Amino acid sequence: MSGHFRDLFQLPGGIVYLDGNSLGPLPKSVPAALERVARDEWGTMAIGGWNRAGWMAQPSSLGDEIGKLIGAPAGSVVTGDTLSIKVYQALATALSLQPERRVVLSDNGNFPTDLYMADGLLRSLDKSHELRIVSPEDVLDTITEDAAVVMLTQVDYRTGRMHDMAAITAKAHACSALVIWDLAHSAGAVPVDLAGCEADFAVGCTYKYLNGGPGAPAFIFVRSDHAEKAQPALAGWLGHEAPFAFDLDYRPGAGIERFRVGTPSVLQMAALQASMDIWAQADMVDLREQSIALSQHFIALVEADSPDLKLTSPRDPAQRGSQVSFAFEHGYAVMQALIARGVVGDFRAPNLIRFGFAPLYNTMGDVDLAADTLADIMKSAAWDRPEFHQRQKVT
Ligand SMILES: *Cc1c(COP(=O)(O)O)cnc(C)c1O
Repeated sequence: MSGHFRDLFQLPGGIVYLDGNSLGPLPKSVPAALERVARDEWGTMAIGGWNRAGWMAQPSSLGDEIGKLIGAPAGSVVTGDTLSIKVYQALATALSLQPERRVVLSDNGNFPTDLYMADGLLRSLDKSHELRIVSPEDVLDTITEDAAVVMLTQVDYRTGRMHDMAAITAKAHACSALVIWDLAHSAGAVPVDLAGCEADFAVGCTYKYLNGGPGAPAFIFVRSDHAEKAQPALAGWLGHEAPFAFDLDYRPGAGIERFRVGTPSVLQMAALQASMDIWAQADMVDLREQSIALSQHFIALVEADSPDLKLTSPRDPAQRGSQVSFAFEHGYAVMQALIARGVVGDFRAPNLIRFGFAPLYNTMGDVDLAADTLADIMKSAAWDRPEFHQRQKVT
């Protein structure tokens, strides 16, 4: 049943939280975990924490826990940095394994930062690479023998449209191209099987469905044959074979360890660890079933009661991640009106209102209340008040 883990989360004052796809809510265990690490580890061990409290090993152990949710074998995922950095790192590494090819293929449903990072990297490489951006529907047929790397976000952040990871990876491999999957809206949202489809690289963040908190470290998966071969572009000291030898020459560490860069964020890792302890009790296949039930119910209610809103997500749940969006000219104001009434989703330009479903804590009751509130706001045009049209910095 959905919402099985709801009591483990702090959901402020009766709100319906449908924005866990942007920032997961606080697990109730996190404040105590932060306090324990600050007081009992940092406070009593100071620098000794790196060895005695296991801080140095945590980027890899957290990586293994995330790996279980995305079908990655132990020792193939490491955490650190931000997702933008991990996109850059994955792409730079993948390109170095494809010295004869010049095309990076992506789609216009990708999250802008992924494309910006790619563009910046290609410009600094200055080897006449091309960033080829096609529509999501055309990706499969556009993968050709000239592609060095296919770099895609599996679940579209605006519409929830989901790429077929197995089919695209297989096609890319048939053309001897490598694939990078951005799992920002997949990890903890849909079952992912990186090993099963022999994906080359994957990256993602941990503050969305994984509930690791604002600023939580990102993660990177590198298939072990690539990890052993690749010379990291971000050759930080903590990815060195022997960081504390302080050699002037860089020698990459073993496998995935070489994708670490610098000093890990210990307090953020403490929060993420507390959240992963919840994930360790959850079953992704079961959650996916619940997520589909929640989103299908929401779509049915909204289409019945708020006919001015146009569904922009795929109708077929198999083609959709764990979020749903609707288009409406005054979407921003509608979302502000909803938030004012305690239903929290978000808005994405130009006109989309977006709702994320996280069955760890969302229930059918949440869906009913959200759809009813939305219908009321639409029928009464309650959104059309000056304060709801005021744009804030984060939408
Ligand atoms: C959320 C998101 C990001 C954010 O990157 P940060 O470096 O964590 O700010 C990047 N890519 C995708 C696909 C996202 O959904």
